[in-house]
Amino acid sequence: MLKPVYELENVTLYYKKGKFKANDDISLTIYQGEIIGILGPNGAGKTTLIKQMIGQLAPTRGSVKFRGYEVSRHVKDVIQQIAYYSQETFALSFLKTKEALYFTGRLKGLSKKEAKQQTDAILQRLGMYEYRDKILSKLSGGQRRLISFGTTLIGQASVMILDEPTNELDPLKRKLVWDIIRELNQKGTTIILVTHNILEAEKVVHRVAVVDHGKLLALDHIENLKKRVDQRMRVEIYA
Ligand code: ATP
Repeated sequence: MLKPVYELENVTLYYKKGKFKANDDISLTIYQGEIIGILGPNGAGKTTLIKQMIGQLAPTRGSVKFRGYEVSRHVKDVIQQIAYYSQETFALSFLKTKEALYFTGRLKGLSKKEAKQQTDAILQRLGMYEYRDKILSKLSGGQRRLISFGTTLIGQASVMILDEPTNELDPLKRKLVWDIIRELNQKGTTIILVTHNILEAEKVVHRVAVVDHGKLLALDHIENLKKRVDQRMRVEIYA
C-alpha cells in the first residue's frame, strides 16, 4: 500500500490581494519513496505550489497536508522533516562553506560530532572539500549552488523538495547531483523535483505533474506522459 506524504486538495492561491491566481484548484498526492517531477514553463506556478508545501504560503482555498497534518498549522514540524533547495540566493554567504553545512546540521538537530562528520562527507562527495575554508560569497555561482544543495543533504531528511537543483551547474556537477538524487531515492527518500527541463528530469523521475497557468494539466508516469503528450504540451514541457 502506497503511503501518502503530501496530499494537496483543490489548492488555489491568489497573489496581489486576490487579483492574480497563481495556483488554480490543484489536487495531487505524493507518495513515500517516489521521485515526482513538477514540470512547467516559467511562471506556471510551480514555486508557488512548493511554497505552500513548506508552509511559506498558505493556500487561499483548499488544503495542503504533510503526513496527515495541515502544513500551514504545523510549519515547524514540517520543516524539521524535509529538506528544501530553492533557487533563491543562499542567505548565509558570509560563512565558510564548512560552516554553512555544519550550522545547517546543528539546526536540524545533529550533534556536533554528527554535524562535523556529515559536513566532511558531503564536501567530499560534492568535490568541494578543498573549498571548505572559503567564504561562500567568494565561490563561483555554481559552487555556491552546489553547497546550497549540500545543505539539503545534511541531516538526511526523508523528504526532499528540490527547485531546479542543477541550474547553473556544469555537466559533470549536474550528473553528480542526479546521481546523488537517484541514490537517496534508492535508500527510500521521497523526492519532489521542480524543473522545466523534461530531458533532464526524465532520467530520474517516476511520475510527472505538469503545471501551466496555475493549473495541473497532467499527472502521470513519465513513460505514459511521453507517449500521450500532445503538440501543445510538448512545446510547453520541452521549453
Ligand atoms: P519559474 O519556472 O520561472 O521559476 P514558476 O512556475 O515557479 O516559474 P511561480 O514563481 O510560482 O512560477 O510564479 C507563478 C506566477 O505568480 C507568476 O506569474 C509570477 O509572476 C507570480 N508571482 C510569483 N510570486 C509572486 C508574488 N509574491 N506576488 C505576486 N505575483 C507573484
